[in-house]
This record gives sequence, structure tokens and C-alpha cells, in this order.
Amino acid sequence: CGIVGYVGRRQAVEVAIEGLGRLEYRGYDSSGIALVGADGALTVEKRAGKLVNLRSVLAARPAPPSTVGIGHTRWATHGAPTDRNAHPHTDCEARIAVIHNGIIENFATLRTELENDGHKLASETDTEVVAHLLERFAGDGLAEAMRRACRRLEGAFTLLAVSVDEPDVVVGARRNSPLVVGRGEGENFLGSDVAAFIAYTREAVELGQDQVVELRRSGVTVTDFHGASALTRDYHVDWDA
Ligand code: GLU
Repeated sequence: CGIVGYVGRRQAVEVAIEGLGRLEYRGYDSSGIALVGADGALTVEKRAGKLVNLRSVLAARPAPPSTVGIGHTRWATHGAPTDRNAHPHTDCEARIAVIHNGIIENFATLRTELENDGHKLASETDTEVVAHLLERFAGDGLAEAMRRACRRLEGAFTLLAVSVDEPDVVVGARRNSPLVVGRGEGENFLGSDVAAFIAYTREAVELGQDQVVELRRSGVTVTDFHGASALTRDYHVDWDA
């Protein structure tokens, strides 16, 4: 139900937890984060229940330093609100992590196709097929893999993904579900709404329908699902946080 993404110089875990806290008002049943470490390792932590459960895991087992990460609060639609069904979801090799708000309507067809292809799925969610589609297309790079995956998806989705193969990038996508970019200096943010990054920047970019965004420290690149560069609208958030 809430989404945060970060690439920059701060500890991504702190940005993610701060943003998820500000999105709590929307309601949720589970939360989780994925971080790509300076050493290139992927850390995923996720828990059913309130954000405090995730915070306690992170207090007991602090995440390695990382300035690239994603955070999620889930409102379960497919699969019970358990630790296993909490997001992020990963591919078979745990090199790619994905978070999702919305519903992938054709997930059952995709799941069968992926299982026939040898992919082992670990959860009951509609979301997990996206991690495996990204794995299938990973040779093209994460942003292109996301565009190819989105062309296979039906339904409503905001998606964010990170990959150990591209440790300086967060890729996002949206269709019929909100996703906003926050611009900083040497750092950039993604959120399901501006509350996700309002503590850090008020310079926002509204994404259009069926767009994919590649978020780096130096800037953002936005395309449609076929790779054509897309127009976006910059605006200043002037409400009081
Ligand atoms: N459909 C996904 C799930 O059940 C995402 C739900 C959400 O929007 O949080 O895991």
C-alpha cells in the first residue's frame, strides 16, 4: 500500500523506514525493505504486522551499509499476510528484488508459464511473477527488463526493482497506480505519494501512465513501456508536512 525508493548518499534503510512511517496512515498488514550494499550484496528483510516488527529485526540484525534501496508496506490481495508473502520478492538467484502495489490480473497464467520454464516461486502473491520475469529478461539491463515485463502484465501496478548487477539504480514502473519522483542533490527518491520523501525534498516529478523510470544519483530517465522517452511534469510540493 506504500512504496519508497532511494538512490543517493544517505543510508537507504533510514530513508526507507522514514518514508514508510509517513505512509502508515494508508493502512497495511506487512512491511519490508531491500538494500543493495556497497559490496554488491542484496539484503532483504520483511515481516508481517506493523512497521515496528521490521524495525525490531533491523535493530537485532543491522543491515550492511547501503545507499540504494526500496521499502514497501503491503495490503494483501493475493496470499495471506505472512512473512513469506510480504514484499520484497526475489528471483530464483536472489539477485533482483521487487515491490508492488496493486494487482497483476494475469499472474496465474504467468506463474504457470514461469514454472514450466523451471522457475521456483516461493510465495502465494501475484507480485512474485514480476521478479521472475525480470530475471528472465535481466540480460537486457534492469530498465529494459522492466519494460519487457510490464508489456506482459495486466492490471494495476506500481513496481520498484533493484538488482545486484546494477547497484546504483532503482527502476520503477506504473500503470493505473501512483508513482512520484522526488529530486534531490546527488540523490533521488521514488514514492507512491510525496509523503514518502517529503522529509528530504519538495521537488517532485509526476509520472504518467505506462511509464518506466530509471533512478540514479545523477538523475532520472523516464520512458514508456517500449523505450520511447516520455514527457513528465515537474512541480513543487508546497503543503506542510
Ligand atoms: N497484490 C499484492 C499482494 O497481495 C500487492 C498488494 C498491495 O498493494 O500492497 O501482495
